[in-house]
Amino acid sequence: MSGITIGHLYPEHLNIYADRGNIAVLDRRCAWRGIPFEVVAVDVGDPLPRADLYYLGGGQDRDQMLIAGDLVRHAADLASAVADGAGVLAVCGGYQLLGHSYRGHQGAEMPGIGLVDLVTEAGSTRMIGNIVLECELDAGDRRRLVGFENHAGRTTLGAGLTPLGRVLSGHGNNGSDGGEGVHAGGIIGTYVHGPLLPKNPWLADWLIRRALAGGGSGEPLEPLDDALELEAGRVAQAIAGA
Ligand code: GLN
Repeated sequence: MSGITIGHLYPEHLNIYADRGNIAVLDRRCAWRGIPFEVVAVDVGDPLPRADLYYLGGGQDRDQMLIAGDLVRHAADLASAVADGAGVLAVCGGYQLLGHSYRGHQGAEMPGIGLVDLVTEAGSTRMIGNIVLECELDAGDRRRLVGFENHAGRTTLGAGLTPLGRVLSGHGNNGSDGGEGVHAGGIIGTYVHGPLLPKNPWLADWLIRRALAGGGSGEPLEPLDDALELEAGRVAQAIAGA
Protein backbone atom coordinates (compact mmCIF):
# COMPACT_ATOMS: atom_id res chain seq x y z
CA MET A 1 0.00 0.00 0.00
CA SER A 2 1.31 3.46 -0.80
CA GLY A 3 2.06 5.60 2.23
CA ILE A 4 2.52 9.20 3.27
CA THR A 5 5.69 11.18 3.79
CA ILE A 6 5.47 14.33 5.90
CA GLY A 7 8.11 17.05 5.60
CA HIS A 8 8.11 18.54 9.11
CA LEU A 9 9.69 21.96 8.86
CA TYR A 10 11.65 23.25 11.85
CA PRO A 11 10.26 20.88 14.51
CA GLU A 12 12.64 22.36 17.12
CA HIS A 13 11.62 25.98 16.51
CA LEU A 14 7.96 25.77 15.50
CA ASN A 15 6.29 23.71 18.19
CA ILE A 16 4.29 25.97 20.46
CA TYR A 17 1.22 24.63 22.36
CA ALA A 18 2.23 21.06 21.53
CA ASP A 19 1.67 21.60 17.81
CA ARG A 20 3.80 18.49 17.29
CA GLY A 21 0.66 16.64 18.42
CA ASN A 22 -0.74 17.19 14.94
CA ILE A 23 1.95 14.86 13.57
CA ALA A 24 1.10 12.29 16.27
CA VAL A 25 -2.55 12.32 15.14
CA LEU A 26 -1.65 11.84 11.47
CA ASP A 27 0.75 9.05 12.45
CA ARG A 28 -1.84 7.18 14.58
CA ARG A 29 -4.69 7.54 12.12
CA CYS A 30 -2.46 6.14 9.37
CA ALA A 31 -1.15 3.32 11.62
CA TRP A 32 -4.69 2.26 12.61
CA ARG A 33 -5.47 1.83 8.91
CA GLY A 34 -2.19 0.16 7.97
CA ILE A 35 -1.03 3.15 5.90
CA PRO A 36 2.79 3.49 5.91
CA PHE A 37 3.75 6.83 7.44
CA GLU A 38 7.09 8.59 7.54
CA VAL A 39 8.19 11.97 8.91
CA VAL A 40 11.30 13.74 7.64
CA ALA A 41 12.44 16.62 9.83
CA VAL A 42 13.76 19.70 8.06
CA ASP A 43 15.98 21.90 10.19
CA VAL A 44 17.86 25.09 9.35
CA GLY A 45 20.29 24.36 6.50
CA ASP A 46 18.69 21.07 5.47
CA PRO A 47 17.51 20.39 1.93
CA LEU A 48 13.77 20.17 1.31
CA PRO A 49 12.74 16.50 0.98
CA ARG A 50 10.01 15.31 -1.38
CA ALA A 51 6.87 14.93 0.72
CA ASP A 52 3.14 14.46 0.30
CA LEU A 53 2.39 16.98 3.03
CA TYR A 54 4.57 19.73 4.51
CA TYR A 55 3.87 20.79 8.07
CA LEU A 56 4.82 23.93 9.99
CA GLY A 57 3.75 24.49 13.59
CA GLY A 58 3.44 27.75 15.50
CA GLY A 59 6.11 29.73 17.25
CA GLN A 60 6.87 32.89 19.13
CA ASP A 61 8.19 35.84 17.14
CA ARG A 62 11.76 35.08 18.23
CA ASP A 63 11.50 31.50 17.00
CA GLN A 64 9.99 32.62 13.71
CA MET A 65 12.87 35.07 13.31
CA LEU A 66 15.38 32.20 13.61
CA ILE A 67 13.93 30.23 10.73
CA ALA A 68 12.21 32.78 8.43
CA GLY A 69 15.33 33.41 6.31
CA ASP A 70 16.02 29.70 5.95
CA LEU A 71 12.40 28.97 4.98
CA VAL A 72 12.67 31.50 2.14
CA ARG A 73 15.36 29.24 0.58
CA HIS A 74 12.62 26.66 0.05
CA ALA A 75 10.01 29.05 -1.38
CA ALA A 76 10.36 27.96 -5.02
CA ASP A 77 10.62 24.24 -4.19
CA LEU A 78 7.57 24.38 -1.93
CA ALA A 79 5.58 26.19 -4.61
CA SER A 80 6.48 23.57 -7.21
CA ALA A 81 5.74 20.70 -4.80
CA VAL A 82 2.30 22.22 -4.19
CA ALA A 83 1.77 22.62 -7.93
CA ASP A 84 2.60 18.89 -8.24
CA GLY A 85 -0.07 17.99 -5.65
CA ALA A 86 1.68 18.18 -2.26
CA GLY A 87 -0.32 19.58 0.64
CA VAL A 88 0.71 22.11 3.28
CA LEU A 89 -0.59 22.44 6.83
CA ALA A 90 0.70 25.49 8.68
CA VAL A 91 -0.33 26.66 12.14
CA CYS A 92 -0.08 30.19 13.57
CA GLY A 93 3.58 31.28 13.31
CA GLY A 94 4.04 28.85 10.41
CA TYR A 95 0.84 30.09 8.77
CA GLN A 96 2.01 33.70 8.96
CA LEU A 97 5.23 32.79 7.13
CA LEU A 98 3.31 31.26 4.20
CA GLY A 99 2.36 34.82 3.24
CA HIS A 100 4.42 37.73 1.97
CA SER A 101 5.66 38.99 5.33
CA TYR A 102 5.04 39.19 9.05
CA ARG A 103 5.79 42.32 11.06
CA GLY A 104 6.29 41.10 14.61
CA HIS A 105 5.23 42.80 17.82
CA GLN A 106 8.58 44.57 18.15
CA GLY A 107 8.37 45.92 14.64
CA ALA A 108 10.84 43.59 12.90
CA GLU A 109 9.63 42.50 9.48
CA MET A 110 10.19 38.86 8.62
CA PRO A 111 10.05 37.63 5.07
CA GLY A 112 7.44 35.03 4.19
CA ILE A 113 7.54 32.67 1.25
CA GLY A 114 4.62 34.18 -0.65
CA LEU A 115 3.02 30.76 -1.18
CA VAL A 116 -0.34 32.38 -0.50
CA ASP A 117 -1.36 35.99 -0.96
CA LEU A 118 -1.59 37.21 2.61
CA VAL A 119 0.21 39.60 4.93
CA THR A 120 0.38 39.75 8.71
CA GLU A 121 1.18 42.53 11.15
CA ALA A 122 1.21 42.22 14.92
CA GLY A 123 -1.26 44.41 16.78
CA SER A 124 -0.85 45.81 20.27
CA THR A 125 -3.03 43.17 21.93
CA ARG A 126 -3.04 39.39 21.69
CA MET A 127 -6.09 37.52 20.46
CA ILE A 128 -6.46 34.67 22.90
CA GLY A 129 -9.14 32.10 23.60
CA ASN A 130 -11.18 29.16 22.43
CA ILE A 131 -12.30 29.34 18.85
CA VAL A 132 -14.96 27.61 16.79
CA LEU A 133 -15.22 27.75 13.01
CA GLU A 134 -17.58 26.53 10.39
CA CYS A 135 -15.63 25.12 7.44
CA GLU A 136 -16.63 23.82 4.04
CA LEU A 137 -13.45 22.46 2.43
CA ASP A 138 -15.48 20.36 0.02
CA ALA A 139 -18.66 21.86 -1.38
CA GLY A 140 -21.69 20.78 0.61
CA ASP A 141 -19.65 19.20 3.44
CA ARG A 142 -19.91 21.64 6.38
CA ARG A 143 -17.82 20.88 9.45
CA ARG A 144 -17.15 22.48 12.81
CA LEU A 145 -13.53 23.05 13.76
CA VAL A 146 -12.57 23.80 17.37
CA GLY A 147 -9.39 24.81 19.11
CA PHE A 148 -7.49 27.58 20.81
CA GLU A 149 -5.87 30.72 19.43
CA ASN A 150 -3.18 32.99 20.86
CA HIS A 151 -1.61 35.46 18.47
CA ALA A 152 -0.72 39.12 18.14
CA GLY A 153 -0.60 38.86 14.35
CA ARG A 154 -3.51 40.19 12.30
CA THR A 155 -3.64 38.46 8.95
CA THR A 156 -5.27 39.90 5.85
CA LEU A 157 -5.99 37.62 2.91
CA GLY A 158 -5.58 38.86 -0.62
CA ALA A 159 -8.71 39.41 -2.73
CA GLY A 160 -10.21 36.15 -3.90
CA LEU A 161 -8.60 33.96 -1.24
CA THR A 162 -10.90 31.82 0.87
CA PRO A 163 -10.49 31.52 4.63
CA LEU A 164 -10.34 28.07 6.19
CA GLY A 165 -13.57 28.83 7.99
CA ARG A 166 -16.05 31.37 9.27
CA VAL A 167 -15.58 32.32 12.91
CA LEU A 168 -18.56 31.31 15.07
CA SER A 169 -16.76 32.15 18.29
CA GLY A 170 -13.31 33.71 18.70
CA HIS A 171 -11.14 36.18 16.77
CA GLY A 172 -9.74 34.47 13.68
CA ASN A 173 -7.42 36.12 11.15
CA ASN A 174 -7.79 39.68 12.35
CA GLY A 175 -10.78 39.99 14.67
CA SER A 176 -12.74 41.99 12.15
CA ASP A 177 -13.54 40.24 8.87
CA GLY A 178 -15.04 37.05 10.29
CA GLY A 179 -12.59 34.73 8.55
CA GLU A 180 -10.05 32.35 10.04
CA GLY A 181 -7.06 30.84 8.29
CA VAL A 182 -6.76 30.14 4.62
CA HIS A 183 -7.70 27.27 2.32
CA ALA A 184 -6.19 27.28 -1.14
CA GLY A 185 -6.24 23.90 -2.90
CA GLY A 186 -4.05 21.64 -0.78
CA ILE A 187 -2.83 24.47 1.45
CA ILE A 188 -4.37 24.93 4.89
CA GLY A 189 -3.16 27.76 7.13
CA THR A 190 -4.75 28.43 10.51
CA TYR A 191 -4.30 30.11 13.87
CA VAL A 192 -5.91 27.13 15.60
CA HIS A 193 -3.82 25.25 18.15
CA GLY A 194 -5.08 22.76 20.66
CA PRO A 195 -3.24 21.13 18.96
CA LEU A 196 -5.45 21.36 15.90
CA LEU A 197 -6.03 17.77 14.81
CA PRO A 198 -6.89 15.74 17.95
CA LYS A 199 -10.33 17.39 18.33
CA ASN A 200 -10.86 17.72 14.58
CA PRO A 201 -10.28 14.22 13.21
CA TRP A 202 -12.25 15.04 10.05
CA LEU A 203 -9.51 17.54 9.10
CA ALA A 204 -6.76 14.98 9.79
CA ASP A 205 -8.55 12.57 7.45
CA TRP A 206 -9.05 15.27 4.82
CA LEU A 207 -5.25 15.80 4.84
CA ILE A 208 -4.45 12.07 4.80
CA ARG A 209 -6.88 11.32 1.99
CA ARG A 210 -5.50 14.14 -0.12
CA ALA A 211 -1.89 13.15 0.61
CA LEU A 212 -2.58 9.55 -0.41
CA ALA A 213 -4.20 10.71 -3.63
CA GLY A 214 -1.29 12.98 -4.55
CA GLY A 215 -3.51 16.02 -4.43
CA GLY A 216 -6.86 14.69 -5.64
CA SER A 217 -9.75 13.89 -3.33
CA GLY A 218 -8.98 10.14 -3.48
CA GLU A 219 -10.85 7.20 -2.04
CA PRO A 220 -12.80 7.45 1.24
CA LEU A 221 -10.71 6.25 4.19
CA GLU A 222 -11.67 3.35 6.41
CA PRO A 223 -13.75 4.90 9.23
CA LEU A 224 -12.29 4.92 12.76
CA ASP A 225 -13.97 5.09 16.13
CA ASP A 226 -13.79 8.84 16.84
CA ALA A 227 -16.16 8.89 19.81
CA LEU A 228 -13.55 10.30 22.21
CA GLU A 229 -12.27 12.89 19.73
CA LEU A 230 -15.79 14.05 18.88
CA GLU A 231 -16.71 14.31 22.56
CA ALA A 232 -13.59 16.44 23.16
CA GLY A 233 -14.67 18.62 20.26
CA ARG A 234 -18.19 18.99 21.69
CA VAL A 235 -16.85 19.97 25.11
CA ALA A 236 -14.52 22.52 23.53
CA GLN A 237 -17.40 24.00 21.56
CA ALA A 238 -19.51 24.27 24.70
CA ILE A 239 -16.66 26.03 26.53
CA ALA A 240 -16.27 28.41 23.60
CA GLY A 241 -19.99 29.13 23.80
CA ALA A 242 -20.73 28.09 20.24
N1 GLN B 1 4.29 34.99 17.09
C1 GLN B 1 3.08 34.96 16.36
C2 GLN B 1 2.04 35.91 16.91
O1 GLN B 1 2.09 36.27 18.06
C3 GLN B 1 2.55 33.55 16.30
C4 GLN B 1 2.18 33.01 17.64
C5 GLN B 1 1.86 31.55 17.66
O2 GLN B 1 2.35 30.76 16.84
N2 GLN B 1 1.10 31.14 18.67
O3 GLN B 1 1.14 36.29 16.21
